[in-house]
Order: sequence, then C-alpha cells, then structure tokens
Amino acid sequence: MNKKSVKDVEVRGKRVFVRCDFNVPMKDGVITSDKRIAAAIPTIQYLLENGAKVILASHMGKPHNIFTEGFGLTKKEKKAVEKLPEAEREAAKAEYLAKAAGDRKKLTLAPVAARLNEYLGNKVTFATDIIGEDAKAKTAALKEGEAVLLENVRFDAREEKNGADFAEALASMADLFVNDAFGTAHRAHASTEGISHYIPAVSGFLIDKEITFMGGALEKPEHPFVAILGGAKVSDKIGVITNLIDKVDTIIIGGAMAYTFIKARGGKIGTSLCEDDKMELALSLVEKAKEKGVNFLLPVDNKCATAFDNDAESLICDIDAVPDGYMGMDIGPKTIELYASAVKDAKTVIWNGPMGVSEFDNYAAGTRAVAEAVAQSDAISIVGGGDSTAAIEKLGYADKISHISTGGGASLEFLEGQELPGIACLEDK
Ligand code: ADP
Ligand code: MG
Repeated sequence: MNKKSVKDVEVRGKRVFVRCDFNVPMKDGVITSDKRIAAAIPTIQYLLENGAKVILASHMGKPHNIFTEGFGLTKKEKKAVEKLPEAEREAAKAEYLAKAAGDRKKLTLAPVAARLNEYLGNKVTFATDIIGEDAKAKTAALKEGEAVLLENVRFDAREEKNGADFAEALASMADLFVNDAFGTAHRAHASTEGISHYIPAVSGFLIDKEITFMGGALEKPEHPFVAILGGAKVSDKIGVITNLIDKVDTIIIGGAMAYTFIKARGGKIGTSLCEDDKMELALSLVEKAKEKGVNFLLPVDNKCATAFDNDAESLICDIDAVPDGYMGMDIGPKTIELYASAVKDAKTVIWNGPMGVSEFDNYAAGTRAVAEAVAQSDAISIVGGGDSTAAIEKLGYADKISHISTGGGASLEFLEGQELPGIACLEDK
C-alpha cells in the first residue's frame, strides 16, 4: 500500500481541507485530554509553514443532528415522530430539537479552536457552521499560513450518510483533501471519503505512519513475526486472527478470549468469560494454525478470582483446572515466562488486547510482563486497541513501542486486511 502524503504534493497557496480527529474528551466545556489535538499539530504545522491555506474539520461525539434541511428534523427523525400518536408528536419533536440544540452547545469545536491556537500561535479562526455563510466567508478570506476550523461536521446528518451534496460543498471550499483522521478511516463519511470524489486526496502524517507501520507489517514483515491477541472477546478478534494466521510465525492468545479456546478443548474454566457459540470456530483456528505451521500459544496457567473485583479472593492454577466459582482474570507466571520468551527474539510484533483485567492492579501482571517483553525486544512493535494502549501508557512503555495505533475499530479492520474507505480513497504514489 503506497499512498501519497502531504509531502508528495505542492501545498503552497492551495486551500487544503484537513480531516482531523479532534474527538477529544470534554467535561463541562473543558477539554480533559488534548492528546488528539497535539497529535494533529505536525501535519497542520507543516501545511502552515509551507504556505497552505488550511481548513480544519473534525467530528466530536454523536450529536443529535437536525441540520439536514435547514433546522428541520431528518427523515429518520421525522418517521420516528410520525409513528407516535398525534397528541404526542409536537412534544416529541420539541424534545428532539431541544436535545439537538443542547448537543450543539456541548459538542461544539470552539474549545478545540482555542486549544489549537495555543499550539499554533493564534493562526486559527473558528467558523460557527460547516458549509454555511460563516465557513464560506472565512475559508475564502484565508491567507497563506492561516487556518480556519469548521464546526463539528456531525452536526449535519449528511456527514455520516456521506451525502454527495454535502461532500461536494465541503470540497468546493478547497483544492486538496488531506485525511489525517485514522480513527474514522474505516467509515465512508462525507469528510473522510466523499470529499475525495471532487478534489485530489492525500494522507497527513498520522495516517501515513499508520500505513507505514501496519501496512508494512502486513505486507512485508520481518520474521519472526509474533501476534499477541487478548482482550474481552474472541468474536472481536476473529477477523484479525484469520488474516494474520497466513502471515505470522506465532500467535499468542491471552485475556478473557483464551477461555473459549480452553473450554472448547475440554478444559474446566469455572465462571470465566466464554463465548460458547464461538467454541467450534476456536478449534478450527487452532487446527488452521497447525496446518500452516504457526505456533499457536494458549495460556498454561492463570490467576483466577471469586469475583470480578480487584480485592476478591484469588489463586493461581492450571488454565484447564479453574475451580468452580472462580473466574480467570490474568495469565499466570508460567504463561508469562512462555509468552515473554516467545516475544524475545521477534522482529515484528503486533499486539491488540490486554492479557488480563489490567485495569485492576491485582490482575495486571500478565499485561505488564508482556508489555515489558515487547518494549525490550528490538522488534518493530505495533500496539492497537484502547485498553492495550492505555495499559502500555500507564506502565510507561509508550516510547519503547515503534507505533501505537490511534484508531480502535479502524486499527482492527486494518489488521483484518479490510480496505478502509478513508485510506483507499487517497492517491497512489
Ligand atoms: P482493546 O481495547 O485493547 O482492544 P478489548 O477491549 O478487546 O481490548 O479488551 C479489554 C477488556 O478485556 C478489558 O475491559 C478487560 O477487563 C477485559 N478482560 C481482559 N481479560 C479478561 C478476563 N480474563 N476476564 C474478563 N475480562 C477480561
Ligand atoms: Mg477496548
């Protein structure tokens, strides 16, 4: 996969529409973590320094959107209202409009504009609409090295529906589309994909890095290639296992999903989480790994507890002999040793999903040990998934990881080998 980035095209004097991920956590109108804003700065800075006129766009949250036809309800909302008895309709409509108006206050990107200005030295103005009069006037007035941030694109229902008229209106403000929002790259929305139908499209630095590392690992990995998959559910990771089984030398399974495999092969798992309807599939994955000569590692022991609670009574036992009334919460010491040694000589590691309930200190040892092994190996290491990333950061290993993917769902779909619309639409090199 070889896609053009901002470095491969002329940006000077051009109006450049940059789709960012400014979907930052907010509390009472205050940004509680600006990691995503900070991450977007290099691409924006590059464009400003190279004389582009920058138009910034992002979504935030999931607003009730009422902007399809001016300030009326969308078709879906109208239908929902029409289903109600007549006496209740007006009230329901009013309630909906009030919710949408509330969301417009809560989910405005105005605080993001203010924060961007702290990073960029007051080069950013804010448009109070997306494709309306204010956006048009402010984008038209941009000088080289200046930027404008548009209002939350999801205030318009056509964003997520990838409405052609909306995408075209976004495109009409710009000469070039830069996608730098990996977290929404698996969605074909107007500002992530639709706009590329009207103007040339390239990646920003964040998406470029995702393609380089994850694309690189999938297309031409250095061996030994080890995939570590954990977390809550087998069903979340089936696609990834299936895609990686043809590429890796070793697959390591941890977290709750391990118990579906253990029960399927006849082990006793107590009250551990298990997806009974996925047991057959689990066995077939093990079988497939064997056929391909892939080393498929399951835990050999575990720490289990009487409740999903940090302070519950716990014990360590073999993985297939979990006592009645106990649930597996973390991999055990023998497994830690086994997994750490499997990671040690790897040249490529992909990790998605913690080895246990790592948000509880008493069940974080497995995740911690695997994080340490990955951090200490000289492999190209790629970590994805919200909980795995949080664990790595909490343990202080983030700077020892080659690439921490910024998209949960997008990252999984990428590893599943799926084509992401927000990347597929970019120009090839
Ligand atoms: P990621 O966000 O990294 O992709 P997941 O969301 O798939 O990871 O899984 C993380 C969740 O899995 C955490 O909430 C954690 O509590 C849960 N989990 C991990 N191991 C176990 C276990 N043994 N029993 C129950 N839940 C577990
Ligand atoms: Mg998660």
